Amino acid sequence: MLDLVEKEGLNFQQALEVVRASGLYTCHTPVPAGHDYFEEGLFYKYMNMFPARLGIEWADLIGMGRQNPADNTEKFSMSVFALNTCQEANGVSWLHGEVSKKMFAPVWPGYFEEELHVDYVTNGVHMPTWAASEWKAIYKEIFPKEWIKDQSNLAMWAPYNDMPEEKIWATRMSLKKKLIDYLKEQFRDNWMKSQGDPARIVRALNEMNADNLIIGFGRRFATYKRAHLLFTDLERLDKLVNNPNRPVQFLFTGKAHPADGGGQGLIKRIIEISRMPQFLGKIIFLENYDMRLAKRLISGVDIWLNTPTRPLEASGTSGEKAQMNGVLNFSVLDGWWKEGYVEGAGWALTDKRTYENQAHQDQLDAATIYQMLENEIIPMYYAKNSKGYSPAWIQTIKNSVTKITPRFTTKRMMDDYFEKFYNKLAKRHALLGADNYKIAKDIVAWKQNMVAHWDEIEVVSSIFEPTELPANVGGKCKVAVELDTKGLNDKGIGVELVAIRTSTHNHDKLYEVKQLNLVKAEGSHLFFEVDYRLDYAGGMKFGLRMYPKNDLLPHRMDFCYVRWI
Ligand SMILES: *Cc1c(COP(=O)(O)O)cnc(C)c1O
Repeated sequence: MLDLVEKEGLNFQQALEVVRASGLYTCHTPVPAGHDYFEEGLFYKYMNMFPARLGIEWADLIGMGRQNPADNTEKFSMSVFALNTCQEANGVSWLHGEVSKKMFAPVWPGYFEEELHVDYVTNGVHMPTWAASEWKAIYKEIFPKEWIKDQSNLAMWAPYNDMPEEKIWATRMSLKKKLIDYLKEQFRDNWMKSQGDPARIVRALNEMNADNLIIGFGRRFATYKRAHLLFTDLERLDKLVNNPNRPVQFLFTGKAHPADGGGQGLIKRIIEISRMPQFLGKIIFLENYDMRLAKRLISGVDIWLNTPTRPLEASGTSGEKAQMNGVLNFSVLDGWWKEGYVEGAGWALTDKRTYENQAHQDQLDAATIYQMLENEIIPMYYAKNSKGYSPAWIQTIKNSVTKITPRFTTKRMMDDYFEKFYNKLAKRHALLGADNYKIAKDIVAWKQNMVAHWDEIEVVSSIFEPTELPANVGGKCKVAVELDTKGLNDKGIGVELVAIRTSTHNHDKLYEVKQLNLVKAEGSHLFFEVDYRLDYAGGMKFGLRMYPKNDLLPHRMDFCYVRWI
């Protein structure tokens, strides 16, 4: 901005047009508390020199970080500032895109959530980093030479289905053993220090066995991740892990934010449980979660468990890392798994929320987890043949790797960013910069004229009347609006009919938007009309609204003037 103003000679508004044209705001959290807010005093301390250099007032600068710029009590929100200075915005999964629209709705008054210009790109993970070298060697062998470049192509993965079951199982077993060796080595010392009882530690280490079903859970211990869910019924858990014919082990790891007492308490509780005699060596908490441990875990366990409170997991990526290693996901249908889950290729906790009360929901989800483990997952794992593996399990791995893995790689993610945003922004940025910023200057001049005259525009008349019976479903209406644009001297106004479905839950939902046609212009008077056919039976509301219209705008939220008439 400073360069454009100080070196290129643009005014602030023109510079902002140019900067916006190349800006994408990627939001990574679904909760308002996850965004940074600053008190005006603190913000002033570091930013007070900029308005003068940009040729604006202090109120203009801080206003760009407020939902309501005129409200002096509002803190400066980095997120609102980003939305005001970037042309595009996205969430990091489909569901998070939807949640972001809700979260950002107050920034663009006059529009429904569903209409907001907020898109999504689901996160993906870097295959060369997160696929174990054992798997990469196999991928190299069975896929075409350029497989890394083609990794997000589902068709390329087909040969995985033809791999001998033995080979898949042997690779899985070797990675499980590697994990166990790593844990024994890495944590023997730690456990000695913190637990003190060598006999107990030896017992715990000896419990570790690559033949067991091993379930991993590794993440930041933010409370929304609900690491406690598994521990709601310790008696049931005891039976589950200590069945001599079908033993199960859980490996937990993660760090809590230093200021998150709840998260720290949770870790403490898991460590306590892991020291109870019945859970020794069955529930294991691993300290110092870092990328090295993550790599061993997401390639070495059988199942990667994730239990966030919906819809608080913006995307989640550790489960995607597990995918590339033949590790199966068992997760809530939140974040990436909402899109990733395919029946027969992993397991999902339903996304139908049954209870408003979170504690009840947690109990229900915990019961569902136990029940799915007991009745479905553990029996499938232990349906082992004479060769020591479960054919059904291998088939699930094949489904998971071929149907899910290719869709959550960095390659696919980057393709999406280019296709949805980067190419478009590069083009628009070039367009606005061409001819000594001619179009940027044109847009600003047009917007300023619109701002100056917007409030003068008068609605002379508006008609919404049935022209053909019946006057409900199937009937036709004529919609007509006459505006006097007074001193505006511009035909760049759009008028539209907005049909809204009303529901008993007091939640209006946008049904459809129909543009009126500009049929006549006489002096400053503009005449708009359209025929509208009602085709929805049920509670409906209709509204008319007008907005500034110009093909040079990238989208409606770019210049968010709306008047309901
Ligand atoms: C991948 C990774 C994360 C993020 O995992 P999420 O599932 O997105 O929460 C955190 N820590 C480490 C060490 C990781 O490797």
